[in-house]
Amino acid sequence: MIRPTTSADLPVPGAALARRAARPFPRERGHATGRRVKWIPRRRESILGAALIGYALLYAAALIGPVAIPGDRTVMAVGALVPIRCLAAALALLVARDRRLDGDTRRAWRLLGAAASLYAAGTAVTAAAAVGGLALPFPSPVDALLLAFYPVAFAALVAFPAVPQARADRLRLMFDVAIWVVGGGIVVWVAVLSAAGPHLGDDPIAAATTLGYPLGDLMLLSGLATATLRQSFPHQRRALTLLLGGIAALFVDDIAWSVLSSKGLYAPGHPIDALWMASTVLLALAALEQRKAAALPRRAASPAVPMQRLGVTLVPYAFLTAGYWALLAHLDPTFSMQTIQLAAGSTGLGALVIGRQIVGLRENGRLLRLQAERESAMRFESIIRNASDVVLVVTPDGTIQYASPSSARMLGRSATSLVGRPLDGLLSSEATVNSLLRSDHAGAFELPAGLRHADGHRLDVECTVADLRDDPAVRGFAITIRDVTERRVYQGRLRHQALHDGLTQLANRHLFHDRIERALAQRTAAPGQIAVLLLDLDDFRKVNDSLGHATGDAVLVHVGERLRQAVRPGDTVARLGGDEFGVLLEHGLDADEPRSCAQRILEAMAAPFDIFGDRIELSVSVGIRRNPRDATADELMRDADVAMYDAKAGGKGRFVEFEEAMHQAVAMKLAFEADLRQGLARGEFTLQFQPIVDLTSGRVRSLEALVRWRHPERGNVPPATFIPVAEEIGYIVPLGRWILLRACRDLAALHAAGSDPDLAVSVNVSVRQLSAPEFAADVATALETHGLRPRHLILEVTESLMIDDHQGLIDELARIRATGVRIALDDFGTGYSSLAYLNRLPVDVLKIDRAFIDRLDDDGQDEPDAVVTAIVKVGQAIGLQIVAEGVERESQRARLAAIGCDFAQGYWYARPVDPADVQKTIAACERRAVAVA
Ligand code: C2E
Ligand code: CA
Ligand code: CA
Repeated sequence: MIRPTTSADLPVPGAALARRAARPFPRERGHATGRRVKWIPRRRESILGAALIGYALLYAAALIGPVAIPGDRTVMAVGALVPIRCLAAALALLVARDRRLDGDTRRAWRLLGAAASLYAAGTAVTAAAAVGGLALPFPSPVDALLLAFYPVAFAALVAFPAVPQARADRLRLMFDVAIWVVGGGIVVWVAVLSAAGPHLGDDPIAAATTLGYPLGDLMLLSGLATATLRQSFPHQRRALTLLLGGIAALFVDDIAWSVLSSKGLYAPGHPIDALWMASTVLLALAALEQRKAAALPRRAASPAVPMQRLGVTLVPYAFLTAGYWALLAHLDPTFSMQTIQLAAGSTGLGALVIGRQIVGLRENGRLLRLQAERESAMRFESIIRNASDVVLVVTPDGTIQYASPSSARMLGRSATSLVGRPLDGLLSSEATVNSLLRSDHAGAFELPAGLRHADGHRLDVECTVADLRDDPAVRGFAITIRDVTERRVYQGRLRHQALHDGLTQLANRHLFHDRIERALAQRTAAPGQIAVLLLDLDDFRKVNDSLGHATGDAVLVHVGERLRQAVRPGDTVARLGGDEFGVLLEHGLDADEPRSCAQRILEAMAAPFDIFGDRIELSVSVGIRRNPRDATADELMRDADVAMYDAKAGGKGRFVEFEEAMHQAVAMKLAFEADLRQGLARGEFTLQFQPIVDLTSGRVRSLEALVRWRHPERGNVPPATFIPVAEEIGYIVPLGRWILLRACRDLAALHAAGSDPDLAVSVNVSVRQLSAPEFAADVATALETHGLRPRHLILEVTESLMIDDHQGLIDELARIRATGVRIALDDFGTGYSSLAYLNRLPVDVLKIDRAFIDRLDDDGQDEPDAVVTAIVKVGQAIGLQIVAEGVERESQRARLAAIGCDFAQGYWYARPVDPADVQKTIAACERRAVAVA
């Protein structure tokens, strides 16, 4: 209904029109403000209502006497009703069309409109007959119209929507309605039926019609009772009250009319006709009221409140009494004195019972309320009693008036011992009493000085103070005190965790950095007053790999402990991550201290660690950096790191002090690493292949894949240079995967081009690559992708695998070998490998290192010859195939053939060649081999 103010401001008239057209009620033309729109129809309805009431009063006055009725009394009495009846019906139908109302209410009004229309029609016909001087027969069509009114009106009354009610309430409603209907029914029966009974006559239709009216009245009565006793929605309440008044007036009028008629006392224009008029006017007013209510914003239905209106509660008793009296009247129509006394006495008794019941109900309500209050107070008590917070009520002058029981737990003082004492006794200093009892505290705040526990220790607390001096129940301050000591401890722990290494409890990188910065800030003027030592355990990864992480962790803890003992008390030891530690030396540093400290550290590490029964020997590389002028923490750490790498490169287990020249070396190393990391993406890697030849048949049985790095500026970087770096920085893993795939691809291409289908490829695999969890899957993928069988692939691993006893990796190799891929032990003889261990290893092929072949002579006399012979014989004895590497001379080939070595590889046969030249090379190789055979 409220017209949006913005639509008046819309600049485009068309838009405003369109909006108005879209609204469901285009009733008001655009000038009115929102308030007036709401007000105008309400005023219109009020005027109409007042006019109706005036009309009814005038009518009543005419009937009773003060105003003379002009003309025929019957015509006027009935005729005056006609327009009002029509108006009431029209208004009811109008309400039924009001879309602001809910569907149920509208349906009820539609029925009411129909009922009122029937009644109006009946009245109009009666009036017309009266004007025409016609005496209507009985029964007549008018009776049909009037009788039809009752069921429709009943339907309307029960159609009004009601607030949903509990089952018990619905039951009570049924009883109440029954009392109304039975009590009222007795009255109707006595007043109407028993009076009309003897005169019903023989005409069944006339008899039925005669009975129809009182039955209709009963119907009205039950509808009335239902609608009254049910709880209506707020927006219907006033309209419904008016409506029910109208129906009640009609009911009373009907009864009165029956009684009067039966006694021959009624003639049209009788004063009771005023009730008739009243019922119609009330219906019209109800319709107007409903329209007004519809204009108001819809409110949510109020919750079902138990019916407390005494008037409504009493109505059933009124009916009870009326029915009772009617019965008595029926028994004794003369209404003797005795009957009246009897009736009065029993009515009085009944009234007493009712009164008693009302008092009881009231008392019941009061008790229920009291109980609810007590329960809430008890709940509050229990909350206070069980809360871990202490609640104090303190008078404005600082005397404790109330203390909750939790004070015994938190403060060590019982609640009773606190009451009456001054608050100062609890606080650590008097100043805080005044600061505490102020009204301007917002929320919880920490009491800086804390509270004193009875045993004297200090409690960290947080307080909330509520100024309740104006509250008559308190007249003071309510202070809630929460013990936050634990929280403090927890926070401290958290802070410690944030700044310390969880394993060793040493400072972490963050705190170390912080300490360096603080030290620098304090001693800016004195270069050389601070030294940063960075330490890295040598080959720590091996400890982790071979003995497991638990042992590795234990070693780190012990290292931390030894470091702490090696430094002076004021110095900081930190674990920077992994196996990297830092030491910050400050406070009165003399020139020798950094180096002597580093020396102490090296010595501390020299003793073996005894962990879980394992004896572990470790060394550490240390880089030292003294602060130059204007250094930052980052610079000191970076320089110390450079020095540390220098120490490692120079042979580990040493310390090195930083020198400016080291920067350059490091920068070069970093640049090299950066270049390497981009090699794959830039396509700078290629493979070359070198044939491995069967010494007996002269056939090429396999090719060793050898990686090449062609860098645009660095040129051809030899694998011996970049492979170790790739291993160090972990780049070997992606690079190795690429090599594996590429080698398989090139071999598959050779097969496709017609080479020996049994030709295999030998791929070098570094330990780091083998440690990657996905290695076995990579191998399988490479073979599958290029349609090769496992026997087409040989993996070359170095002896170092065996030296370092990587049991996990050996197991992994064994699993791969089980699929049919062959394993070759590369560079055999350069490490500590012993022939005795060979049979425990998952190996198929042994490659004797070039160093032995180099010294091999054709005379078969000297020691190298004996070694090679031994390797070949022992290897073959345990089922290995033997490859001799680095065969550069024919004499070497001949000697190897004489010893009985299986295969040979070397420049004498062929240098590693590009894939495009492989077939040609294989052919040349075999020609050469056959030529000497
Ligand atoms: P390696 O596995 O022992 O490979 C054999 C090396 O000896 C190759 O050097 C090869 O060119 C060279 N060679 C072959 N025949 C002769 C000869 O008659 N005389 C001499 N003096 N040398 C010969 P390259 O290609 O420079 O490789 C050096 C090392 O780099 C390899 O030694 C291997 O450890 C590593 N490497 C090469 N390619 C790869 C690879 O693809 N993956 C891995 N992980 N390492 C590789
Ligand atoms: Ca190799
Ligand atoms: Ca080798």
